[in-house]
Amino acid sequence: MKKVALGRTGLRISPLVYGTLPLGPLQANLSPAAGGYLIRQALESGVNMLDTAELYETYPHVREGLKGYAGRVVLATKTHAPNAAQARSHVERALRELGVGQLDIVHLHGARLADPFVERAAVFEELLRMKDEGKIAHLGLSSHYITAIRKAADHPAVDVLHPLVNRSGMGILDGDAAEMAAAISAAAAAGKGVYAMKALAGGNLIGSARESLRFVLGIEGVHAVAVGMLSEAEIQANLKLFDGQDVEETVWARLESQKRRLRIMERFCTGCGACVEACTNHALTVEQKRVRLDNSACILCGYCAAACPQFIIRVI
Ligand code: SF4
Ligand code: SF4
Repeated sequence: MKKVALGRTGLRISPLVYGTLPLGPLQANLSPAAGGYLIRQALESGVNMLDTAELYETYPHVREGLKGYAGRVVLATKTHAPNAAQARSHVERALRELGVGQLDIVHLHGARLADPFVERAAVFEELLRMKDEGKIAHLGLSSHYITAIRKAADHPAVDVLHPLVNRSGMGILDGDAAEMAAAISAAAAAGKGVYAMKALAGGNLIGSARESLRFVLGIEGVHAVAVGMLSEAEIQANLKLFDGQDVEETVWARLESQKRRLRIMERFCTGCGACVEACTNHALTVEQKRVRLDNSACILCGYCAAACPQFIIRVI
């Protein structure tokens, strides 16, 4: 697979980035061996960048995929820490569990905030300190907010952006797809590396996966797209699509007929509201001590699953 420059980072990455979120306990809950096997298939087929996060619990899968692999792999992770001490512990955990001396990219996992540089200034400063210490090569921002992407485009310490964008605009919290696309193009023109997320709106656009992926790849300034993949067929089909090659219609027809949904075992719900707080899309409410889901607002990100103390939510 061809490689492209990720803004001014000096990194050259595959336009298809492996999004590891679906491998972990918030979604498909594959074992590290099974997830690592898929990651390795992708690496050996030309993917050279992996996207993970403290929240995803997929460091064991990534480590398994990298075991004994000789090629250069770009690793991006994220911290959702609310304070400096936790941000440091998240980065140190990533270094330890991924088994590397430096992380290529660490994002401020800022999905919930329009201006994370103000609300979490101490976290960003701590990440800058860790960059000076050589533990991080590049700082980034992941966000569902157009405002945050615009602010990051002007921020001299931000090298990489990981914005949510898809053709329906689902999950963008302060505008539509056209406005996010414009913010992305401006950020890339300012030298930021951009790899997009949620091109399929967490699976909601899977029925039109090809069209949806091509839409995001066609946005000026999008250097790459992170895609969560759960089978070898999915990996190979995406590799071909990203390379502009044809894939058998029957293969894509099968992939596009897959259905995903959020499963909540409501009878074990205590009504604590932690999931409501965690949902950036306001898709959850608690009524009469039971959680309720608005399917039309859910982008299947699984963040509610990470927040639930009863472990009763899963994207399946
Ligand atoms: S309900 Fe859960 S999976 Fe759906 S958007 Fe909200 S946090 Fe994400
Ligand atoms: S976090 Fe879990 S237990 Fe609490 S309201 Fe949500 S589903 Fe129920």
